[in-house]
Amino acid sequence: MKTSTSYQRVGIMGGTFDPIHFGHLVTAEAARCEFGLEKVIFVPTGYPPHKKGCLITDAEYRYQMTVLATNSNPFFEVSRVEIDRPGYSYTIDTIDEFSSFYGSKTELFFITGADAILEILTWKDVDRLLCECHFIAATRPGFQLSRFEEFRPKLPAEGRHRIHLIEVPALAISSTDIRWRVRNNKPIKYLLPESVEEHIYAKGLYRIHSSDVYEKG
Ligand code: NAP
Repeated sequence: MKTSTSYQRVGIMGGTFDPIHFGHLVTAEAARCEFGLEKVIFVPTGYPPHKKGCLITDAEYRYQMTVLATNSNPFFEVSRVEIDRPGYSYTIDTIDEFSSFYGSKTELFFITGADAILEILTWKDVDRLLCECHFIAATRPGFQLSRFEEFRPKLPAEGRHRIHLIEVPALAISSTDIRWRVRNNKPIKYLLPESVEEHIYAKGLYRIHSSDVYEKG
């Protein structure tokens, strides 16, 4: 059995996952295979600093849906590290925790949406972040790759080469669209795992007046 220090490459899949869907799962599996990651740890955000004032589903529901969605893949894990950490969820704090757990010989790859990565210059300690780990930016169909080429020169020179793009056709699915569909009584079948669909209906998530939704900030 592997010890924490014997991993060479570990993926950290960061997202709000409100809700998790097949686009996220396809992204994680594509990144795992393409970059030779030995496992991918899904990290649902706790209190995202960039979403003050936005409606976000309670972290426990988002965590439970992420566990349900990933439990059939032996290479996937789910971490409560951001949910359990008090205060805003900064990626640098998450990377620091995983770095000290896995040790300096393990390379970390933070996987998330390309639109989120385009905002990375606003993230806490971005210079250090770009030295501590690689980034895998997943693009949706229709994403203009030229946006990245214009953006890359603005990054600190030593971290530029650490951002990698992957195209994920399944990211035509989006959490925003799924929430809209539930609110408007449209089907969500085949957009996410059945277990997650059942959880959404059982807990009454994404009904606008539901008490499981609260305002941040
Ligand atoms: P977001 O702004 O809600 O999403 C931006 C786009 O990326 C959306 O199209 C979203 O699609 C997609 N996306 C999000 N996570 C994805 C994933 N893991 N795989 C593929 N596509 C994904 O992004 P967010 O979820 O709030 O933040 C993404 C990550 O960046 C989180 O881990 C967050 O903590 C981190 N972040 C850190 C800082 C900081 O440290 N200051 C600031 C901002 C973000 P869906 O809506 O369909 O997911």
